[in-house]
Amino acid sequence: MIKISLPDGTIKEFESGVTPMEVAKSISEGFARNVISAKFNDTILETSTALTTDGSLILYTWNDKEGKKAFWHSTSHVMAQAIEILYPGVKLTIGPAIDNGFYYDMDFGEQKISENDFPKIEAKMLEIARGKHDFQLRAASKADALKFYKDQNNPFKVELIENLEDGTITFCDHDTFTDLCRGGHIPNTGIIKAVKLMSASGSYWRGDEKKPQLTRIYGTSFPKQKDLKEYLELLEEAKKRDHRKLGKELELFTFSKKVGSGLPLWLPKGAALRERLENFLKKAQKKAGYEMVITPHIGQKELYVTSGHYEKYGADSFQPIKTPNEGEEFMLKPMNCPHHCEIYNSSPWSYRDLPKRFAEFGTVYRYEQSGELHGLTRVRGFTQDDAHIFCTPDQLDEEFKKVIDLTLYVFDSLGFDDFTAQVSLRDPENKEKYIGGDEIWEKAESAIIAAANEKGLNYVIEKGEAAFYGPKLDFMVKDALGRSWQLGTIQVDYNLPERFDLTYKGSDNELHRPVMIHRAPFGSMERFIAVLLENTGGNFPLWLMPEQAIILTLSEKFEKYSQKVLTSLENDEIRASANNRNETIGKKIREAEMSKIPYMLIVGEQEEKDGTVSVRKHGEGDIGVMSIEEFTEMINKEIKKTLKAFEV
Ligand SMILES: [Zn+2]
Ligand SMILES: [Zn+2]
Repeated sequence: MIKISLPDGTIKEFESGVTPMEVAKSISEGFARNVISAKFNDTILETSTALTTDGSLILYTWNDKEGKKAFWHSTSHVMAQAIEILYPGVKLTIGPAIDNGFYYDMDFGEQKISENDFPKIEAKMLEIARGKHDFQLRAASKADALKFYKDQNNPFKVELIENLEDGTITFCDHDTFTDLCRGGHIPNTGIIKAVKLMSASGSYWRGDEKKPQLTRIYGTSFPKQKDLKEYLELLEEAKKRDHRKLGKELELFTFSKKVGSGLPLWLPKGAALRERLENFLKKAQKKAGYEMVITPHIGQKELYVTSGHYEKYGADSFQPIKTPNEGEEFMLKPMNCPHHCEIYNSSPWSYRDLPKRFAEFGTVYRYEQSGELHGLTRVRGFTQDDAHIFCTPDQLDEEFKKVIDLTLYVFDSLGFDDFTAQVSLRDPENKEKYIGGDEIWEKAESAIIAAANEKGLNYVIEKGEAAFYGPKLDFMVKDALGRSWQLGTIQVDYNLPERFDLTYKGSDNELHRPVMIHRAPFGSMERFIAVLLENTGGNFPLWLMPEQAIILTLSEKFEKYSQKVLTSLENDEIRASANNRNETIGKKIREAEMSKIPYMLIVGEQEEKDGTVSVRKHGEGDIGVMSIEEFTEMINKEIKKTLKAFEV
C-alpha cells in the first residue's frame, strides 16, 4: 500500500500502482470527469501514470493553470498529427503550451502554408479529437528513439534526443500519431471540443538566426465551443483597447525610428496626463512624509560597481559612456537607488531623524532586446515613481504598512479594483543565495505577511521569488486580455545599506545600519499608463481626463456664448475646449465621442437665451439642460467622488 496526501490535507491509502485518475474517482465520479492532469511530488504526469511511492498528489481540471497547460500542449500533438496528414514530409520540432494556447515549430520544406489553410487543418483536428484517442506515454531506448526520427529524416528531433540521457526518453502515442515528449497530457483527444489556429510566422530552430528557418503555428483550444467564442470576443475587445492603438487615437505618445526603438516620445496630451499623475502622487507623498529629490541620469561606473548593478545590468545593457579623460566612464542609470544612497550619505543621521523618505520621478535606462519591446509596457527608457525609505529595523513594520496604504490609495483613485498581491519570500532550501542572516530575514518576512494580513490584501506567497537582497510585495493588475502585469512594488533591502556603508547613530550612541525600502506604487509611468489605458479603454477617471468637457456650437452664430461658457468652466478649473467650427452637430458629437471626452455641452439659440447648456455624457447620450453653474457643480462633485484626499 502507498499513502497519498491530497491538497486538503487528507491522506488516503491505495494499492501501489494506483493512477491519479483512480484517486480522482475515489473522491467522486463527478470530479474525476473533470480531472485532466496531475502533479505528483512536484512532477507533472499523466492521469494514467501508475503511482508506486508515498507522496502528495494534486489533481487539475480545466480551471487550473496546470490543467490548461496540459490541455493546450495535448492539442499541439493533435495539430501536429493533422498537419502531418495534410502535409506529408513535414518535419516536427517542438510544440509547447504557452499563455492562452500553444504553438508548434515545423519545417515545411518546399511546401507553403498560410492562414487560408487554417480551416482545413482545424477541421482535421476536430475529426481526430472526436475519435477520443487516449494519450499514452511510452518509454523508449535512446537507440530506438534515434532510429525512429532518422528513418523520418528529421534532424531536429535527432538533435533533441542526442542531448537526452538514455533511460529518460519517452514518446507519446495517440491514434496513429507518435511524438517525442516528456509528458503532461490530458486523458484523451475527445475532451478537445473547439480549436482555433491563430497565426503562422517565421521562427528559427532553437531561436538562433543562424539555424534553419521554421514555421511557427499558434493555436488555442477549449473544452467547450462557448469558451472559444468568449475568448475570441475578448481578443476583439483587447484589440480595441490595445494601449498602442489608444495612445495614438488619444494623441498621448509616439515612437520614432530616428530617436530609437523603445524610447517613447510623449505628446502634449500625454505629457499633461503624466504631469497630473505625478502631481497626484506628489501630493499624497507629501502628506505621507516623503521629500522630493532630483538626481542626474548618469553616474560614474564605480557607483554601479559598488551597488552591484554593474554586475547585474553591465554586460547586457547600455555600455559605459567614455569621456575625453582616459579611463573615465559613466553609465546611464539602470536604477535610482545608488544615487539615493549617496544622498543619505551626504549627512550624518541619528535614530531621531529616521525614517528618511526620498522620492524622485527618476528616469532609468535598460537595454531590452528589440524582440522584447512592446509599446509602453517594455521600453528602454522609463520613469519610475521611485522612493527609498531609510529606517531603523524597528520602524520596518510601520513603514511597510504605510507604503501599502499609499499603494492602495493610488489603485483606488485610478479605479483598479481587480488586483492581486504577491509576497515573495526566500527559498528556504537555498538560504545561501541570499544576503543577510536568518534573524533579519525572518523578521522582515513576517513583517510583510503581517502587514498584508492587516491591510486585508488578497495575496499569494511565492517561496524563492524574493530578491537576493530582501523579501518583497508586488501588486499585479490584469489588463483587458486578462494578462497580469506587475505594477507597484515594495521591497526590503539589507544589501545596499551594507554596500554603501549607510549608518545612523542609535540611542546607544553607536553606529547602526538602517534598513532600506524601495517602493514604487505605479511601478513606472510608462507601464502604468499602458495598463491604465487597456483597463479603462481610455475612459480614465474624470479627475485624470485630459479634457473633461467640450463645448459644441450648433452654428458659428453662438461662438461668443461658447467662449463665455468656456471661460466660466476654466475659472472653475475644469479642463475644457470649444469646437466652434462650421460643421454639423452630428459630426462634432462623433468626434468628441471618439476622443472619449466625458461631457459635451451643446449650445444654440435657446441655451444662449437662457444661459444654459444641453449636456451629453460620453457613451450615454443626453442628460438634460442645465445652467452653467449646475453643470460645474455636478462635474466637481463627480471629480471629488473619484479622487478622495489621501488620509495618513
Ligand atoms: Zn506531449
Ligand atoms: Zn531602489
